[in-house]
Amino acid sequence: MAGAAKIVGIGGGPDRHLAHPSPRRPCGGNRDLLARFPELPVYGSIHDRGRIPGQTHFLTEGDRLHFAGQQVEVWWIPGHTRGHLAYWFPDRGDLFCGDTLFAGGCGRVMEGTPPQMQQALARLRELPDDTRVWCTHEYTVANLRFALTVEPDNLALVHRYAAVQAARQRGEATVPSQMAIERATNPFLRWESPTLQALAQSADPAQVFAYLRQQKDGFTAA
Ligand SMILES: [Zn+2]
Repeated sequence: MAGAAKIVGIGGGPDRHLAHPSPRRPCGGNRDLLARFPELPVYGSIHDRGRIPGQTHFLTEGDRLHFAGQQVEVWWIPGHTRGHLAYWFPDRGDLFCGDTLFAGGCGRVMEGTPPQMQQALARLRELPDDTRVWCTHEYTVANLRFALTVEPDNLALVHRYAAVQAARQRGEATVPSQMAIERATNPFLRWESPTLQALAQSADPAQVFAYLRQQKDGFTAA
């Protein structure tokens, strides 16, 4: 569901719509929403101008919004797509990171480069331990299954995988996640791990990231 519309509705009905396009699914959901809510403001990246149907607001790094009574900081973090944004709610510690950081994984590098994506993740990783990570997909089990193949001796990861499997069996969501948990268990934030550096045969963060992303691409396809 890459590029699917992100609806943020707090307090009844979608009152604003934050979107990003993708080559595979260029925000088709926007049209459906706009048919029902023609006045709906659609927020998206200025770097995606012309690619997001109905876009009314063009955002980039450093912009600030008010949303549902909250301050929102806009971060431009290209890599997954060229215009990818993250929305950081500093007062409540909520991070809406789209398809860049997932619980236990990360998005594919579709329009950027591995170094760009690694820099984006490095920036997100600096957020406080208790940051709630609201990603866009419930991919956690599959992501952790891959993570265990590259870091099988990471005990925090082993425990998280068991907890996440149990949660899914109970029908519970695993999103939002927490930044401290991501740093401890998500291989795409763990380029300092000696295990991962040995696998990638590099201590360079971007190269470790690129190696892992390549392995994951193959893993998903298999
Ligand atoms: Zn996407």
